[in-house]
Amino acid sequence: MIRFFNVSKVYPNGVKALTGITLQIEKGEFVFLVGPSGAGKSTLIKLIFREELPTKGQIYIGGRSIVRMKHREVPGLRRQIGMVFQDFRLLPDRTVFENVAFAMQVVGAGWKEIKKRVPEVLQQMGIQDRMKYYPRQLSGGEQQRVAIARALVNRPVILIADEPTGNLDMDTSWEIMHYFQEINRQGTTVLVATHAREIVDALRKRVIALERGNIVRDEYQGAYASAT
Ligand code: ADP
Ligand code: ADP
Repeated sequence: MIRFFNVSKVYPNGVKALTGITLQIEKGEFVFLVGPSGAGKSTLIKLIFREELPTKGQIYIGGRSIVRMKHREVPGLRRQIGMVFQDFRLLPDRTVFENVAFAMQVVGAGWKEIKKRVPEVLQQMGIQDRMKYYPRQLSGGEQQRVAIARALVNRPVILIADEPTGNLDMDTSWEIMHYFQEINRQGTTVLVATHAREIVDALRKRVIALERGNIVRDEYQGAYASAT
């Protein structure tokens, strides 16, 4: 589903964010991406979403090179990927329904389909009773569930979250991680960059650890930090 071959990213200011990354994530996997601030996690995510291009190497999503991909093909790639961020990134002047509906409008869905699908995905995230609320009327956990609903509404094959629980308390963080697991159980490939050590250690998923732009560890049933 996701393949990196010897991928390096040097930003225009000379910062080497990633160095010779090779990795393979299969369809249906659940992967935690860990590592200290500045290790390159967000850069790796931006490369998958083609927000950045690698300086060197190849990246394949679903068997297609996204490095050689044409500009007009990028929206199609992004439609296959749902993105969730630490700061939720909801539109403040739109209701929960409108926030999620907007993601469907952007890809040209019809009103009938939107009216059917949005409540369905809000229900999946247990937040259908907040449909008419504005983001500021919701708790942080509720806002993140809306953001996840928005990420899922177009049925992506990959869900990527960058520090999704960074602004949430422990109980709420667990709740959000349970939703990610449920989404993964339904077949979506899930990649979560996180500092939530306790949760990573408890869930025993695949853990890829980055340090200074290198993969220093890649373990199934892994932990947040190495045992040694
Ligand atoms: P992480 O997500 O693990 O904190 P990042 O991928 O954000 O790591 O950053 C990796 C390195 O790249 C850091 O040194 C960071 O300062 C640098 N960096 C990130 N984005 C940019 C950018 N747009 N321009 C220049 N340097 C950047
Ligand atoms: P938390 O303590 O988890 O951050 P809040 O105290 O912000 O949660 O909210 C608790 C509940 O009250 C939430 O379900 C939220 O939807 C609701 N709520 C919060 N602010 C408002 C508001 N301005 N209008 C309507 N409901 C609100």
